[in-house]
Amino acid sequence: MTCLPARTDKQLGLVIDLDTCVGCQACVTACKAWNTGGHMAPLIDLQPYGAGADGVWFNRVHAYEHENAGGGRTVHFPRSCLHCAQPACVTVCPTGASYKRSSDGIVLVDEDKCIGCQLCSWACPYGAREFDTSVGVMKKCTLCIDRIYNQNLPVNDRVPACVAACPTGARHFGDLGDPSSPVSQLVRERGGVDLMPELGYQPANKYLVPRSHTDRAPAVDAPAMEPVASGLLAWVDRMLSR
Ligand code: SF4
Ligand code: SF4
Repeated sequence: MTCLPARTDKQLGLVIDLDTCVGCQACVTACKAWNTGGHMAPLIDLQPYGAGADGVWFNRVHAYEHENAGGGRTVHFPRSCLHCAQPACVTVCPTGASYKRSSDGIVLVDEDKCIGCQLCSWACPYGAREFDTSVGVMKKCTLCIDRIYNQNLPVNDRVPACVAACPTGARHFGDLGDPSSPVSQLVRERGGVDLMPELGYQPANKYLVPRSHTDRAPAVDAPAMEPVASGLLAWVDRMLSR
């Protein structure tokens, strides 16, 4: 079994705005392109042009019709690793391959230590682990550690590829462990929520739920969003629990 750090200096993560995500898949393809050539490369594709196309994708966007979301609309729901504070995907790992960094809270896999047992995949309730059958090891979102600390990139590009690619600005990156950071302020202003908080994983990533049509004035307070939030998140919980 693998231990978690007692504390982390930062907790980097994403804030995803379900109100402005239009489901264009730009983040999905940017993630795939960057990571296929980067730290976790290569990411396989299975039957890419055939029926049942699949493969390793660290970020997937699902689309659903939901009656409680903003008065009835399609909700586009991006799903990737949430870099949880209490991730059982790490603690179940028998080899120490899965680990959480004390410096920035990012959850990673050391491929050299991974034996492909897939226990971490069973332990993740969010479906965020990706087993690469071509090499027999687990892979996952790294929050683009090879971008965010990359001194060769312009400062503005030192964000995860999904964040850089999003045309609507629906994805925000920063330190959610710092209450004064822009992402933490955004979560407070918009009443950002955890996915399945009852499980105790304490995901770093937060979701901003779709606003109802009447809530689209500049300032939206959390109580006004509560019926939409609770209905939508109950539905997301059911969807992820399948
Ligand atoms: Fe682990 Fe899943 Fe949480 Fe990511 S979302 S840290 S894979 S439990
Ligand atoms: Fe650890 Fe790899 Fe097994 Fe996952 S599949 S629990 S990372 S050894």
